[in-house]
Amino acid sequence: MKSFTYERPGTPAEAAAAVAATPDAKFIAGGTNLLDLMKLQIETPRHLVDVNGLGLDAVEPTEEGGLRVGALVRNTDLAAHPRVRKDYGVLARALLAGASGQLRNKATTAGNLLQRTRCPYFYDTAQPCNKRRPGSGCSALDGVSRQLAVIGASEACIATHPGDMAVAMRVLDATVETIDAQGAARKIPIAEFHRLPGDDPARDTNLEPGELITAVTLPKPVPGTHIYRKVRDRASYAYALVSVAAILGKDGTGHVAFGGVAHKPWRVEAAEADLPKGARAVTARVFADAKPTHENAYKLKLAERTLGAALNQARA
Ligand SMILES: Cc1cc2nc3c(=O)[nH]c(=O)nc-3n(C[C@H](O)[C@H](O)[C@H](O)COP(=O)(O)OP(=O)(O)OC[C@H]3O[C@@H](n4cnc5c(N)ncnc54)[C@H](O)[C@@H]3O)c2cc1C
Ligand code: SF4
Repeated sequence: MKSFTYERPGTPAEAAAAVAATPDAKFIAGGTNLLDLMKLQIETPRHLVDVNGLGLDAVEPTEEGGLRVGALVRNTDLAAHPRVRKDYGVLARALLAGASGQLRNKATTAGNLLQRTRCPYFYDTAQPCNKRRPGSGCSALDGVSRQLAVIGASEACIATHPGDMAVAMRVLDATVETIDAQGAARKIPIAEFHRLPGDDPARDTNLEPGELITAVTLPKPVPGTHIYRKVRDRASYAYALVSVAAILGKDGTGHVAFGGVAHKPWRVEAAEADLPKGARAVTARVFADAKPTHENAYKLKLAERTLGAALNQARA
């Protein structure tokens, strides 16, 4: 690991200003992703701004009947929160499908949204990778791509967003709240938070340098059966090959987002009108523009079957 300096500011505005003012500075929350990347020298910040003491760890009801989740709320605490368990079951289930108990005790809401891809070449510093070293090339295009994106990818990068929580937040239409170095607040709909790779895959999100996540707001609850189904290589402690976050009625109407298939949680709202017709009709529209590699075309059938299982679960 490269040496770095460290500070613990007292307010969100001070934290944002500290990162903006210092070259190669980064926020650190639970550290479960950032520290691993620093040990591998994939991330080499020269200054860390610790956001753990900023008082961003409350879960509070909103005036609109929703829930405001502080950026520092731990994944374990969020999954166990009575309102989340009662009204946002898809989120509780997605959180509990991720990582391990120990990791969830440290991992935060903001850090989880910002976790980096698990593309094997991103971690192999001997290989070209446009996300890690812009302009070096993409080793996955002609390499091992079984885990990687089937839709929304580019010639520069076919990585996926690896998280579970963000897929549930996408189906819930969450909003990410931030503050910048000048103290200005901003609200970013979750649909616009993560980016597609395009020709700049080094940028995972639309956050500006130094912009601090302060909270994620959930709108008022959506009725229906809340389902999160995650298909992976092992029964636990593995990332999604495909996941489905769904809120469904017994008649099959509802909402659905897919994980493990793109650089961001993947949702096509217009296709949800076809949910009562069944999984094949929906996935045909959701994945109409898919361009799988020779290794990951299986994900298209897997997505259809996983949604089919969710629809059966909702009808039962
Ligand atoms: C072995 C292992 C297995 C895992 N399995 C899964 C899994 O199955 N599913 C899953 O979803 N996740 C999984 N994870 C990922 C885990 O969920 C993330 O590491 C964790 O959520 C990151 O949160 P953190 O608070 O530790 O973030 P950190 O590591 O502290 O930070 C991550 C990034 O977020 C930035 N950041 C942190 N807070 C803020 C803020 N408030 N504003 C702006 N930027 C901020 C940091 O600068 C950094 O770039 C796994 C991790 C490990 C190590
Ligand atoms: S898919 Fe993206 S992360 Fe993976 S090697 Fe290519 S550029 Fe790097």
